[in-house]
Amino acid sequence: MNFNFFGDVFFPPACVACGDSIPGGIICDACKNSIDGFDTLFCGICAARLPDQKKICHTDAPFLLGAAAAYDGNALRALIHALKFQGIAAAAEPLAALLVRYVARIHLSLDGFTVTPLPLSPQRARARGFNQSALIARPFAAAAGLPFEERLLARVQHRKPQSDTEDIFERRENIKGCFAPAPGAAIAGKKIVLMDDVTTSGTTFTEAARVLRRAGAKKIIALAAAKA
Ligand SMILES: [Zn+2]
Ligand SMILES: [Zn+2]
Repeated sequence: MNFNFFGDVFFPPACVACGDSIPGGIICDACKNSIDGFDTLFCGICAARLPDQKKICHTDAPFLLGAAAAYDGNALRALIHALKFQGIAAAAEPLAALLVRYVARIHLSLDGFTVTPLPLSPQRARARGFNQSALIARPFAAAAGLPFEERLLARVQHRKPQSDTEDIFERRENIKGCFAPAPGAAIAGKKIVLMDDVTTSGTTFTEAARVLRRAGAKKIIALAAAKA
């Protein structure tokens, strides 16, 4: 079944968060405005807030972390749920817009960066029918005027979802060795925005960033629509 088709055509034109009727829309203005955005970058290792966008606590972190808003908000959670589990591809647009506003709010310069999504394993991509991170990353890149490359990284191991793991130690084990440079991908010297829908402990970003750095990436900013 084509879930995008199913979602776009048959999902009633109502706000995914409050259910109010909004013909042609996906989230109403009131719900959208209720999403309380972050105003700093975060340390990629300990998630400390970095008001000046400089690594202050873990200077060896392979990336800086950015997130548009906290995952505990109902509206943001509803958008991500609609995108990821109901297959409503149109929910990616407001998520990308949130990220564009966040980048502007914190005055983050992404000059010279290329945007790439965290890849799914081929098994999961087949089962879900789409990569939700790519659906967010593509309109984000377009709005930010940045190049988009869907395949810089490949997922070479299929494991259980990070959300099914018990703790940070299991998360780290579960994700280890999952990523590799995609065949033929030009990574060396690149500045890369790595995109995911939700980040929890940052272990997935950490593993992916390490692989990209090992392949010669110059700088990495990991961006998630939501941070738990
Ligand atoms: Zn609403
Ligand atoms: Zn830190």
